[in-house]
Amino acid sequence: MRTTFLPFSTPSLADAEINEVVDSLKSGWITTGPKVKRFEDAFRAYVGAPFAVPLSSATAGLHLTLLALKIKEGDEIITTPMTFASTVSMIILCGGTPVLADIEPGTLNIDVSEVRKKITPATRAIIPVHFAGQSCDMDPLFALAREHNLTVIEDAAHAAGTEYKGRRIGSLDSISIFSFHPNKNITTGEGGMVCTADETLAEEISLLKFHGMSREAWKRFAASGTPNYDILLPGFKYNMMDIQAAIGIHQLPKLDGFIDRRKEIAGFYNREFADVAELALPTYAPYEQRHAWHLYTPLVKVEKLNIDRDRFMEELKKHNIGSGLHYKAIHHHSYYRDVLKIADSELPNASYASERILSLPLFPNMTDEDAADVVAAVKEVVRLHRR
Ligand SMILES: *Cc1c(COP(=O)(O)O)cnc(C)c1O
Repeated sequence: MRTTFLPFSTPSLADAEINEVVDSLKSGWITTGPKVKRFEDAFRAYVGAPFAVPLSSATAGLHLTLLALKIKEGDEIITTPMTFASTVSMIILCGGTPVLADIEPGTLNIDVSEVRKKITPATRAIIPVHFAGQSCDMDPLFALAREHNLTVIEDAAHAAGTEYKGRRIGSLDSISIFSFHPNKNITTGEGGMVCTADETLAEEISLLKFHGMSREAWKRFAASGTPNYDILLPGFKYNMMDIQAAIGIHQLPKLDGFIDRRKEIAGFYNREFADVAELALPTYAPYEQRHAWHLYTPLVKVEKLNIDRDRFMEELKKHNIGSGLHYKAIHHHSYYRDVLKIADSELPNASYASERILSLPLFPNMTDEDAADVVAAVKEVVRLHRR
């Protein structure tokens, strides 16, 4: 057994990131400034988006996108139960009503035929999540959205570098929201980016993100700016800092390499676990895509074991292997259980996955030995707890 704890994820930061942050600190300009602009331009170019708005988090991106779309009381937004809480929380905080559509059992992405069933005259938007970095099937989703005049907002928190039919997520005909939380495929510490082709929407989000000040207001203390400023509407404080962007500037060029390494480890897991009947492995959608492998999420077939998923994770920990939970389904959280009142029978696939899913360690700096330790520990826990 390994002697040190292997976390489920840890960011890959090198001297370039560290030196760039130190450079910002020494420069006297640490908040929003030229490095945020550099990171915004580089990220926009990478994904192929006409407009990008850097923010303090993806949650801020979801919030401002919904506000900019004027989501109001009574509006229904369809999303997946297999997501982080903020996707759904932001709908509620904007006064909208979240409507959960079930997932496909293999990819765990939202099932377009389930989305169709949930559309009503009050539906305004659909928020698919590219689960674990695998693209949702966007063509049928866009067709459905066009048919019913709905906006598609991609929660692309897992999908930096994901491609769908040869196009990067961020460049499709929609709004995409990326996260740079330390567990995500690239990080800025905390951070997010909204990408869109809609200039008016990007402008509105830019205003809302920083007190409702005009777009270039961050320059007001620099030589090129003017100290006077104008408030165009009441706004939030959701701007990204140069200290954050300093990290992102050096993460982005490594993203493709990070994905290659993630794919290698996921491939190793897939081969090693192929004959473990107690696991259901993540499946690969048939359309052309690049999976960014943000997460590796097998389902533990608890029926075949004498322990549940939580105990399985505890047992892994005893072997010094960390794991994550992405996700306990939205309708299983106390708040949403009380407010949404959704029975498991209404979302059978998400409910099934919610009780069985776990995230095994997957990050670019893992060694082959680390991955082999994960496999050995999983197989040992299965062997000891097989029914
Ligand atoms: C991480 C994540 C978010 C939130 O991102 P933050 O940058 O932490 O606000 C939203 N949705 C999904 C699916 C996520 O994984």
